[in-house]
Amino acid sequence: MADTFVVLKLEELMTWGWAQFEPHYSALEKAELTEATISNWLKTWTAVSDVRDELYNRLYVATSVNTADATAQERFDHFMEKIYPQVMAAEQKLKEKLLVSGLTVPGFEIPLRNMRAEAEIYREQNLPLLVEEEKLGTAHDQVMGAQTVKWQGEEKTARQMEVVLREIDRETRKKGWELLTERQLADREVINQQWVKYMGLREKIAANADLSDYRSYRWQVLMRFDYTPDDCSTFHDAIEQAVVPAVQRMAERRMKALGIDRLHYYDMFVDLSGKPPLKPFSSVHEMKEKASAVFHHVLPQFGVYFDQMDAEGLLDLDNRKNKAAGAYCTDFSHAERPFIFANAVGIHDDIQTLLHEGGHSFHAFELFKLPYFQQRNESAIPMEFAEVASMAMEYLASPYLSEEFDGFYSEADTARARVDHIETDLRFWPYMAIVDAFQHWVYENPIDGKKPDKCDAAWAALEKRFRPYIDWSGYEEVMMTGWQRKDHIHQAPFYYVEYGLALLGAVQIWKNALENQKQAVSAYRRALALGGTASLPQLYKNAGARFAFDVDTLQEAVDLMESTILTLERSY
Ligand SMILES: [Zn+2]
Repeated sequence: MADTFVVLKLEELMTWGWAQFEPHYSALEKAELTEATISNWLKTWTAVSDVRDELYNRLYVATSVNTADATAQERFDHFMEKIYPQVMAAEQKLKEKLLVSGLTVPGFEIPLRNMRAEAEIYREQNLPLLVEEEKLGTAHDQVMGAQTVKWQGEEKTARQMEVVLREIDRETRKKGWELLTERQLADREVINQQWVKYMGLREKIAANADLSDYRSYRWQVLMRFDYTPDDCSTFHDAIEQAVVPAVQRMAERRMKALGIDRLHYYDMFVDLSGKPPLKPFSSVHEMKEKASAVFHHVLPQFGVYFDQMDAEGLLDLDNRKNKAAGAYCTDFSHAERPFIFANAVGIHDDIQTLLHEGGHSFHAFELFKLPYFQQRNESAIPMEFAEVASMAMEYLASPYLSEEFDGFYSEADTARARVDHIETDLRFWPYMAIVDAFQHWVYENPIDGKKPDKCDAAWAALEKRFRPYIDWSGYEEVMMTGWQRKDHIHQAPFYYVEYGLALLGAVQIWKNALENQKQAVSAYRRALALGGTASLPQLYKNAGARFAFDVDTLQEAVDLMESTILTLERSY
C-alpha cells in the first residue's frame, strides 16, 4: 500500500479528492493489526496523512499568496466542505482502531497519550456547541475587523495604527492612540454581550465532557500534561518578582530619555535613539542573501536549509497587492519541505519575523526525519516547544546581524536592533501574565467571570500588579477594557502562556550559546529532531534548558537580558 505514494508528483497530489483517499483509508481500517503488522500499518497511515496534510496546506497557501485568486479559494472551500469532514471521520476510525488494539511502537508513547486524551473528552453533543462557538468567533472577528479610524486622510486598521506609537512627536502619538481607543470603546457593549454568550456556551461544553469547569476542559484540549494551573500561578508570581522591576527600570530610563515625568501607554514604543528607523535592506533578494549569511553563521546546515528553500521557491517574502497579511511557516509533509510566507517592506520587523519563521522551518527540516506522521505533524508539536525553536533562533542569530558577518547593519545599528528585540521580549512577560492570570480568574469564578463589569475590575487589578509603570490616569476606561482587545481570550482560551514559557526556554539557550555556541546550537538542533516524541521537560532538557516557572530561572534570564541591553546601549 505504501508504495503507491512514494512517487506522487505535485501536480498529481493536487488533484486528490475523497475518491483517491477513500480506498487507502478503508484498506487501513480493514487491515489486520498485530504486533507484526503495526509498524507497516502506521507507515501507510503516515503516507496517506502526509498527502492529505500537504494538500490542505498547499491549498491554504494558494489562497494567501493571492487573495484575488477565486479558483484557489474555491478549491480550498471545496476541500474544507467536501473532503475534510470525510477524511476526519476516517482518521477518527483509525485512531480508535489503534487505541483498541493496545499495540504500540517505539517513540509512539506521546502520540498515543495525545490520542487517548482526545478520545476521552470527545462528546458528540458538543459538536453543535463547538460550531456555535466558532460562529461567535467569526462575529468577534467582524467587530474587531471593522474597527478602523480615519488617520491623516486614510482609513487605518488597529494593526496599522501601531506604527503611530513609534512616531517621534509625542502629540502625534497621543492623538493617534486616543483616536483608536475611542473607536475601540464604541464597541464595548457588543463585545460584552458576546462575552456573556461565550461564557454560557463554555460552561455547557465542560459539563458535557463531564468536567467540573471549563479550565479543566481546555487543559485537556491543549494537551497540557506537563504543567498545572498552579504552575502558571507560580510563573505569574515569578514575573511579578523578576520581570516587573526590570521593566520598571527600563521605564525610568525611557522617561529620562524622553524628558517626561509620566509614562503613558503611547510612550512605551517610540525609539529612544532619535535616529531614523532601521533600514535593513532595499530588496527581498538582498534580504534573503543576508539572512542566508546569518543562518550559516548560526550553523552551516541551517544556512543550507534556507538556501534550499530559496532555490525551490519555498520563500514567499515580499509584500504585494492581493497577498494576505502577516507571516507564517507551514510544511509540506509529503515533499518533506517547509514553506515561509511573509510581507517584507524593508523594516527591522521583517528581519525579526524571518529569523523567527526560519527557526520554525529548521524545526520542520529536522523532524521530517521521524518515521510517523503523528510524531511530527504541526499539532503533534507542543506550542510550548515549537515557539522555543523560533524564539531561540531570534537570539542565536542576533550576534550575526552586523556587516562584519555579512548581515544587515553597522555595529551601532545592530546594537539598536538587539536592544529593541530584548526590550520587546521583556515587556511581553508582564502583559502575558495579565492575559493568563485574567483567564484563570474568569474560569475559577464563573459567576463573576460572566459579568463584564467584574471582568473590567479584575483586569484593572492585574494591570496595577504587572504594569505599574504605565500611567493610565485619564484613560481608566481604556485600561480596564484591555481584555476586550486580546483575541486569544475570546477565541483561543488559555492559549498564550505558551509564548511566555517558550521565551524563557529561548533565553536559556541563548545563554548557553554565549558560553559555548557550537554546543548550544547542536543541543538545540537535537531537541528539534525529537518532534513530538518527548515530554516538554525532556524536549527542554535536550535543548539545554529547563522547562521552568520559578523565579530563580526567570531572574537569571532577566539579568542577562537587562545587562545585555545596558552594554549594547553604550555602543550607539
Ligand atoms: Zn512562531
